[in-house]
Amino acid sequence: MKAALYARVSTNEQRKESIDDQLRECRELCRRHDLDVIEEYSDRGRSGNEVNRPGYQKLLRAARHRDYDVIVAHELSRLWRSESEMHAIKEELEYLNVHVVTDDGIDTRIVGMDILIAVKGAMAKQELRQIAHRTHRALKGLALDGRSAGGKCYGYFAATKSGTGKREINEAQAREVRRIFVWYAAGKSPRWIAERLNEESVSSPGSDWERTKRRRDGKWLASAIHGDPKRGSGILNNELYIGRYIWNRRQSRKKLRSGNREFLLRPPEEWVTTSHPELRIVSDDTWREVKARQRERADQIGARVRLGLSKYQAYAIGAYPKYLLSGLLRCGLCGSNLIVSGPAQGYVCATRVNGGLGACSNRLRLPRVRLERMLLSWIQSVLIGAESEQCLLRAWRARSRENSPGAEYAAPGRDAELKLAAGVGSATAGEIDAPRSSKYYEQFVTTIAARFQENPRETRATLSDLIGGAIRLIPKGGTQELAVHCEFSNATFGLAQLSNSLTATRHAGNLGGTGC
Ligand SMILES: [Zn+2]
Repeated sequence: MKAALYARVSTNEQRKESIDDQLRECRELCRRHDLDVIEEYSDRGRSGNEVNRPGYQKLLRAARHRDYDVIVAHELSRLWRSESEMHAIKEELEYLNVHVVTDDGIDTRIVGMDILIAVKGAMAKQELRQIAHRTHRALKGLALDGRSAGGKCYGYFAATKSGTGKREINEAQAREVRRIFVWYAAGKSPRWIAERLNEESVSSPGSDWERTKRRRDGKWLASAIHGDPKRGSGILNNELYIGRYIWNRRQSRKKLRSGNREFLLRPPEEWVTTSHPELRIVSDDTWREVKARQRERADQIGARVRLGLSKYQAYAIGAYPKYLLSGLLRCGLCGSNLIVSGPAQGYVCATRVNGGLGACSNRLRLPRVRLERMLLSWIQSVLIGAESEQCLLRAWRARSRENSPGAEYAAPGRDAELKLAAGVGSATAGEIDAPRSSKYYEQFVTTIAARFQENPRETRATLSDLIGGAIRLIPKGGTQELAVHCEFSNATFGLAQLSNSLTATRHAGNLGGTGC
């Protein structure tokens, strides 16, 4: 009779027996049973639960071609740890008249083997459960002991790499973590943050990991920053930054047929939370601000979805800014970004474009070039005003106070204020960029077209600082006669303190000219 050998090691058991050992035992078995070995199949690092093991699938294909008569394996569990798979294939093998012989006593050529096979199958499954249970128990012990059982974490030296044998703060990375939190709390998007970090060539969390596949050449990704608040993934959701470690939040398991890894959230009562004040990087206040902004953002997305947008559309709004004012203009009715649409290049409410009039009733369509010109000339006229310098300073002080509740972020000192008054570029206090002088902004606006050509991202970011985030455009009057009402956001630093609102009452079709 012709025999095909099958051997398998999963990562857990690799040390115990190697593929070679198993195959040697199989060959020995074949000699005893007088079987001719015609082929050897094996899988390395694969669980017996998986169906898509390459060697195993080749073995089955050969059986279907009637290439051999007997499968020989060291133990039944090498072939199967999944009972359902075992029963299904066993039936097929019976139909093909292919037998199974193993070193642990299975021989389907003997009548009455079915009971033994069923028992062995159940035992293999139970053994698998026990291994998982033992590993889990050991890890839980480590977590309760305060020796966090997790892997690497940005902002820290891993226990294995630190001198003390414990996880320790990596100051250089911790500084980046603080910057990310402050930026996000101040309204910057994860995409903006990722771009800024990449521009500054800050190495990303994944860049020094020994991965087999390098993730996008070690750059920061927005997804690594925002992550998923529910799952606790991503920089902004890592509770270790406030000295709290949650173990056992997620369960990793392999999918039944594909063997791909998936993560399931465990019920909170199974989580193990330990406190590590010495590992704190971010203040509670900053953490709370970030959480508040995340909730606000989630509500926004939720509201857009309720208005009829798909989840993808709801997220996509304002995702890829292209024009000078992209992402800086908001619909005064629903709060969505205005986007440029149509061959005539008009700014329209994104919710209205994607979700129709039922989603947002804002019918405004504002010619892009003329709207840009109008807003810029208005900003310029405000900047030339005598009061502007004092107002910028006042606004900055207010915002610095707002943003530095803890000692972590120093309020701007007198030095910085003097520099500012003297009109010297920009100064930095703590983690927040100080405002530039109004002269700087004046020059900035005058040369904005050329600047935008050269560096669109930077130019848009500066403009965003200047106007304090975004400009809301509110339609006035009936649908026949649309008017624009622009106002600068009151709450954020910018020109808010200079003038509360700009009323540009113009007919939509006649939007242009110089002043407002
Ligand atoms: Zn709208």
